Amino acid sequence: HVLHRQFAHALPVAVGGRGVEIFDSEGRSYLDASGGAAVSCLGHAHPDVLAAMHAQIDRLAYAHTSFFTTEVAESLANHLIERAPAGLSHAFFVSGGSEAIEAALKMARQYYVEIGQPQRSVFVSRRQSYHGNTLGALAVGGNAWRRAQFAPLLIDVTHVSPCYPYRDLREGETPEAYGRRLAAELDAAIVAAGPDRVIAFVAETVGGATAGVLTPVPGYFRAVREVCDRHGILLVLDEVMCGMGRTGTLHACEQEGVVPDLVTIAKGLGGGFQPIGAVLAQRRIVEAMSSGSGFFQHGHTYLGHPVACAASLAVQRVIERDGLLARVRSSGAALEAMLRARLGSHPHVGDIRGRGLFWGVELVRDRASKAPFDPAGQLHARVKREAMARGLMTYPMGGTIDGRRGDHIVLAPPFIAGNEHLGEIVERLAPAIDAAIASL
Ligand code: PLP
Repeated sequence: HVLHRQFAHALPVAVGGRGVEIFDSEGRSYLDASGGAAVSCLGHAHPDVLAAMHAQIDRLAYAHTSFFTTEVAESLANHLIERAPAGLSHAFFVSGGSEAIEAALKMARQYYVEIGQPQRSVFVSRRQSYHGNTLGALAVGGNAWRRAQFAPLLIDVTHVSPCYPYRDLREGETPEAYGRRLAAELDAAIVAAGPDRVIAFVAETVGGATAGVLTPVPGYFRAVREVCDRHGILLVLDEVMCGMGRTGTLHACEQEGVVPDLVTIAKGLGGGFQPIGAVLAQRRIVEAMSSGSGFFQHGHTYLGHPVACAASLAVQRVIERDGLLARVRSSGAALEAMLRARLGSHPHVGDIRGRGLFWGVELVRDRASKAPFDPAGQLHARVKREAMARGLMTYPMGGTIDGRRGDHIVLAPPFIAGNEHLGEIVERLAPAIDAAIASL
């Protein structure tokens, strides 16, 4: 009676997991090269995380946040804020990425209501982005296919271009000039919408699932920050997928030299051991609410769930204790080298891009023209099937270019993966791609 995401084929039954592997009921093992959807940063069954969860369950499994705070939620907030970019002062704990985005959108709107600018009602975000599947998150998201059938239900959002140098960098244009061109486009979109009507620009610091790991060009986010400041609008960075160490720094924006007004985090925050997400907010936004209404007009039953906070705190402490950010950087360099060696001159690999342990491989029919495969062939689904048949979990997606055309594969292995695992990932992925293409 489970209503699965897809009705077409039966799924294997996952019965166990350890380290970088998941096991199914038929005894097959799968090397988790994508952490599900860039979630399982510590792999599966990490003993320190399980112990912290057991201890919290024995103490207190649940307390509603309108009645109590808990030590574990306070400790997690302290841990996160002590390591957060400058000025971020509070953490609002929810149960996942979409909830984090919804909370960020409402917090941004309430901030302007509190400071006497209630006319602000417009969000600006990017095409080929993903911010979640609830209606607010879907509206700011720029995944045309996901939005299409729900479009009549979505709030009005202005979308601008993604930062996608592989396809959009012009001949003779430097990456820096491209970044400035994109910032000018954002500026024009804000002016067209009416700068005093815009609430925020919302963007993934490193684009994730929709276009396959789009890393920003140098200077892009600094220029974006400048545009937002000039118009007095907020910068909301969505680091649900790319944050919490995935790109080699705790927050991806650290590498861009910008500080957001609000940042959303989720997947790697709890590593999948429990559902958890969070919004980290600048002090002035929190103070506007506390000295104004005296509350944030938002909430869910499972805010700050103690077991989720315990799991998350344990995940974050392991990352720090075991020096895993440095490991992400060195393993990321190793994975990049392996991907480029094995797939760099593959006739149907157009681009290999990424940062840390977050990589995208874009597949093309023709390298010279960058023409994609016919979307009717659903190449991405074939790659996923062929990889699973080889005991490899990857995160392929179609619609890379415009929501319809293009195919890519996202790799996001656990931070604990050794070079032998990374090598195995690439060795299984390459024949999976070949088999998928051969089957078209
Ligand atoms: N934002 C980004 C950047 C994501 O990648 C995702 C999920 O993939 C979300 C938001 C939504 O998170 P969730 O699926 O936990 O609701």
